[in-house]
Amino acid sequence: MKIYSTMSREKEDLKTLFKDKIKLFVCGPTVYDDAHIGHGRTYISFDMIKRYLEFKGYSVFYLQNITDVDDKIINRSKERNIESSQLARKYEKRFIEDMATLNVTSVNYFARATDHMDEIIDQIQRLVDKGFAYVTETGVYFEVSKFDEFGKLSNRNIEELETHRIDVDDSKRSSNDFALWKNREGEEFAGEPVWDSPWGKGRPGWHIEDTAITEKYFGAQYDIHGGGLDLIFPHHDAEIAQIEAVSGKSPLVQYWMHTGFLNVSGEKMSKSLGNFITIRELLKEYSPETFRFFVLLTHYRSPIDFSEVSLHQAERNVSRIKNYIEALDEAIAAEYEKGNVSDNIAEILSLDESEIREELLEFNYHGTAYEAFDECVDQFFTSMDDDFSTPKAIAAIFPFIKQSNKDLEERKISIEDMLAVKHFFADVSEILGIDFLDYKDETSANDEALLEIIADVRAKLRAEKKYDLSDDIRDKLVQLGIEVSD
Ligand SMILES: [Zn+2]
Repeated sequence: MKIYSTMSREKEDLKTLFKDKIKLFVCGPTVYDDAHIGHGRTYISFDMIKRYLEFKGYSVFYLQNITDVDDKIINRSKERNIESSQLARKYEKRFIEDMATLNVTSVNYFARATDHMDEIIDQIQRLVDKGFAYVTETGVYFEVSKFDEFGKLSNRNIEELETHRIDVDDSKRSSNDFALWKNREGEEFAGEPVWDSPWGKGRPGWHIEDTAITEKYFGAQYDIHGGGLDLIFPHHDAEIAQIEAVSGKSPLVQYWMHTGFLNVSGEKMSKSLGNFITIRELLKEYSPETFRFFVLLTHYRSPIDFSEVSLHQAERNVSRIKNYIEALDEAIAAEYEKGNVSDNIAEILSLDESEIREELLEFNYHGTAYEAFDECVDQFFTSMDDDFSTPKAIAAIFPFIKQSNKDLEERKISIEDMLAVKHFFADVSEILGIDFLDYKDETSANDEALLEIIADVRAKLRAEKKYDLSDDIRDKLVQLGIEVSD
């Protein structure tokens, strides 16, 4: 199995640090507002990644931090005239609810920054003791020039830090040095959350919370660190500097994984452009499954362009798979009712749906005699093993479904192969986090019939050379995300 690492800019063979265990850390949200669809994209991607690694037999511990003390939180809470901790708890709760709705269930532990103040202060103290950080009247700073390899992840030079600098502070030795601890004593900071530290009352910088949390749970070195592409610089470069300086060990992680951007109709999503979409808003119009499928139709590293057309297309494709499973179940039931199955299979089929899923393990789907299926299975797993290429894996499914729908109608598939196919789709459901075996809400058997009628009408229109009308219908179908081939 290969994983692309941002550090080497290459796909590398997956090698764990310890046997079949994988430690995965992904940068979590700053909880001052509802999560948007860009967050959704990142966390759905890492959820799929963890699911697939577990499917491959690894035991994965997935740790995510929650930034619950930060300038954005403090400013927002001042605007609303509430405690910053109250604001943070509210949005943390809403974030976790959103993730559950999207079936992003794989995070083992959410670690709040404010629950790790001792670890944060301790790590800063060690950086000071080792000479990588210094204390001024305004706080504690990491001295970037002391860490020779600064910027090795982003390949950017120190000067570029300049543009990311927020605090103008004359007490720093260099404007590139970043804050580990911010002193917040005095009138102007009244009402802000503060903690006691050896350097006075204040609060931590952003970068230090991740390394304090990961050092506590994972140690100085672990397997995978993930996050959005926008976090590489300076955030992840700062993390590397902090932990490698404090531990003297390198590298921090074996693989750096970054998800691509999400654009809305070709533009970067932003509040000022008015194209900012929260997960909650999106889910008023689309199901969580549709959004998940939409996300997974693009490789996790590639940019995604969000549009209504693509969402509709995703919706339709989820239905296509579910409709197929429904047809498959009907064919299985028909064989069972006719008594065309062995005693062993009859016994399994007499169980209820949830119990049948467990029994499906008996039906191995690798290397069956059913050729179209074999190709689909092969392509699915080869693609997933190639840096989690979900678009290629999913692309294997549709030609198979098309063929297999015919084969089911013509009763060309053995009951064993039908159950092997069902086993495969149970696994696909687990890996992608979309339950294709649950088609109960789908009304789409009618949709299919309706589409056939529309296709017939269009064929007749074209035969009568009424191309405008035929094209008009096609364009409207395409707008709904329905693929039309003439
Ligand atoms: Zn982070």
